[in-house]
Amino acid sequence: MSQQLTLALSKGRIFEETLPLLEAAGIRVTEDPEKSRKLILATNDPAVRVIIVRASDVPTYVQHGAADFGVAGKDVLHEHGGEGLYQPIDLNIAQCRVSVAVSAGFDYDKAVRQGARLRVATKYTKTAREHFAKKGVHVDLIKLYGSMELAPLVGLSDAIVDLVSTGSTLRANNLVEVEHIMDISSRLIVNQAALKLKRERLQPILQAFEQAARRSV
Ligand code: ADP
Ligand code: MG
Repeated sequence: MSQQLTLALSKGRIFEETLPLLEAAGIRVTEDPEKSRKLILATNDPAVRVIIVRASDVPTYVQHGAADFGVAGKDVLHEHGGEGLYQPIDLNIAQCRVSVAVSAGFDYDKAVRQGARLRVATKYTKTAREHFAKKGVHVDLIKLYGSMELAPLVGLSDAIVDLVSTGSTLRANNLVEVEHIMDISSRLIVNQAALKLKRERLQPILQAFEQAARRSV
């Protein structure tokens, strides 16, 4: 088996916050995904390449071995399920939380107390279903793929389940956070076969990531 390593990353926050970890392992990505249209990026190490995929697709690439390892948010991992993935390290990057938010004028506590059926828009349907089931709240889930904040503003839903970090997007749209569901950060995920067959090449990188992630807590 080739000892070439492929790392799956998503553009934006995860890519940017993974760069210092790669640096700690002596790996520099030689192209900027924000400027290039390329989906396969070279690094200074001819044996390591980075592929750029949608955040929610990272576990799929790693699970099938199209990437040997990757970085994915706990939000994405929880939705996807961890099958075929070894998840050795919490990298403590891309930190945020999954929360329930509603329009400023909507009395969420009252609706819950009265046992109202809530319409909840989200891309995190599994996370949302589990959360409301635990609370004993009946919900109609409305699957969206982005811009969840819009849904309560135009009457598509009563509430949303979405990622929050500073809360500024919620405030800008006159929404309030009413429940915190889970804390999010990104984890390193590794294909289980690659972990065995490419151990020699992977191990030093995993170690460098682990040390760098611990330093940054
Ligand atoms: P999408 O492909 O759905 O647009 P994003 O780029 O918004 O994905 O987010 C990718 C990942 O980055 C998320 O799964 C999450 O783990 C993390 N993330 C998203 N938004 C934030 C945020 N505001 N603060 C910190 N991490 C975030
Ligand atoms: Mg986004």
